[in-house]
Amino acid sequence: MNDYDLLVVGSANADLVIGVERRPGAGETVLGSDLAVHPGGKGANQAVAAARLGARTALLARVGDDGHGRLLLDSQRAAGVDTVGVLVGGAPTGVALITVDPSGDNSIVVSPGANGRLTPADVRAAASLFHASRVVSAQLEIPLETVEEVVRNLAPGSRFVLNPSPPRPLPAHVLAACDPLIVNEHEAKVVLGDGAAVSDEPEDWARLLLAKGPRSVVVTLGGEGALVASSDGVTRVPSVAVRAVDTTGAGDAFTAALAWRLGAGEPLAEAAAYAARVGAATVTRQGAQVSFPTAAEVAALPG
Ligand code: ATP
Repeated sequence: MNDYDLLVVGSANADLVIGVERRPGAGETVLGSDLAVHPGGKGANQAVAAARLGARTALLARVGDDGHGRLLLDSQRAAGVDTVGVLVGGAPTGVALITVDPSGDNSIVVSPGANGRLTPADVRAAASLFHASRVVSAQLEIPLETVEEVVRNLAPGSRFVLNPSPPRPLPAHVLAACDPLIVNEHEAKVVLGDGAAVSDEPEDWARLLLAKGPRSVVVTLGGEGALVASSDGVTRVPSVAVRAVDTTGAGDAFTAALAWRLGAGEPLAEAAAYAARVGAATVTRQGAQVSFPTAAEVAALPG
């Protein structure tokens, strides 16, 4: 009997957001809006998204012994995430400094901070969490060597889901563990490297990615839905028509929902269709974690 439907291993950041009329150039200072501080980071986002849907979720992450770390712990607990695996200290909490202009274009500087100090030893010390989890999900805002250790520590029978964001070429043994590898178009191109030049068609990228070793691949296509690729072939997952207000966090919500439904035993195409509904619900609201839907809100979507 597993205690957790999903263990998320990944980043936790404080997003510090300032609205500006115009983003500053080199050597320039501009005045902006009041500062807004939001809990974020791909790992923290995925954990909150899964828990909000009703998944029994744990997070393995590292935050600083500071106010931002406490904000992140509070937001995880408020969503119902088990934070027993959230380590505190070693560096300041990761921060994303974000300036946004009136057209919605932004500039972002990330200080990984404590995320960069989540080590392979931290993964080994969390063995009990791995043994208690049906599905383990990771991203790349923590060191790659830590993600490699995650792959080595998967319990027999558990499933590994990876969203390689920010993207980089991946070692073959990490790719081979993914079931699925979840990428958007940009991430697909980076993981494929030179192979991406072969075609402009996401269907082809899905096939090429699958040939690199993952057991399955999902390519997310924003408002166009997603593609699912496995040994059964490539199938399209339609998107749900909604009025998109803010796409922040859609990928994290999609990944969390997919991982949860796969752990519940759903076939990949079905789980991806549910995840597309969760992604669609997320884009109808402003913000990241605050925009993640409950299962009831997903059920209430049309279609
Ligand atoms: P982000 O980096 O903004 O979090 P992403 O690029 O990783 O997102 P997307 O492909 O934009 O991921 O979105 C994930 C999923 O969410 C899509 O596959 C789709 O199912 C859903 N989605 C995203 N945007 C829309 C939209 N405008 N309308 C309906 N569904 C959407």
